[in-house]
Amino acid sequence: MAEKPQPVEVLYCAVCSLPVEYCEFGPDFGKCKPWLIKNAPHLYPDLLKDAKRQRVFIENKHGEKLVGILHDTGSKELIIICHGFQSSKENIPMVTLAGALEREGISAFCFDFAGNGESEGSFQYGNYHRESDDLRHVVQYFQGQNHIVSAIIGHSKGGNVVLLYASKHSDVQTVVNISGRFNLKRGIEGRLGRDYLQRIKQKGFIDVVNRKGRFEYRVTEESLMDRLTTDTRKACTLIPDECRVLTVHGTIDKIVPYQDALEFAKAIRNHKLLIMDGANHEYMEHLDKLASVVVDFIKEGLHQGMLRMCPSAKRPNGLCSKI
Ligand SMILES: [Zn+2]
Repeated sequence: MAEKPQPVEVLYCAVCSLPVEYCEFGPDFGKCKPWLIKNAPHLYPDLLKDAKRQRVFIENKHGEKLVGILHDTGSKELIIICHGFQSSKENIPMVTLAGALEREGISAFCFDFAGNGESEGSFQYGNYHRESDDLRHVVQYFQGQNHIVSAIIGHSKGGNVVLLYASKHSDVQTVVNISGRFNLKRGIEGRLGRDYLQRIKQKGFIDVVNRKGRFEYRVTEESLMDRLTTDTRKACTLIPDECRVLTVHGTIDKIVPYQDALEFAKAIRNHKLLIMDGANHEYMEHLDKLASVVVDFIKEGLHQGMLRMCPSAKRPNGLCSKI
């Protein structure tokens, strides 16, 4: 004898009218989300987490739309995080750092440089100056939104970009350079092959292919020259004394040798160096440690910023109404 079906209470979505379990397969999940957060949060716990993450579009100097994710904790202080070469805002360690800051109640913003990830524009090799211009537009956008950009963080090539930014603009007081490259003349042959300078001068470009021989990206003479003429040492000496810089580098980094970090330490005046034993370029297995040293350095900066705004807070019993 067939069992009688038990009555099941089905919750239907008020937006797409499907049973709520099926919203994510429905025609427009995005429209259901606000309703689901309110009425069925147990079924979609990730939505709650994402609710405070907002996609932000910012136009750069060239009219290209840059796409970023704002992790908004409601703090006025905001930290901007920059990715490295052939990477994006969605990758480690960028997302790890944004999450760690978020848990400390500090708002963070990860974005894609032009030509990378979801942002408009064409992918370029070098482009350090252009990326620091992108960052300039992002910083100014948030300053216009009544945020204080308290720190900029960059991983790998992004590390070079944040340092370059600090050498040109003095409105961000804390800079974190994670595994940036000091000597930009190195590390090119590995990607472009031998005699790259001669070949690029003949043809005007070099097409880089992956191991399977598939085209990856084109390096133009102009973009290579941008890299070769970007003077890291000079940029470092131009960073103002008030700007605190932290460099973190792993000892088993195969992409950028950790010795580069020692050069940053020599060239930057207000500098803290942290060599992480056994960490590689992506900080696999060291992500928590990386996040904790970076967050600590940033919190120290926020504290110093408060002391500057309100010197009475230095006194043990000093209370400051502005804090
Ligand atoms: Zn729905």
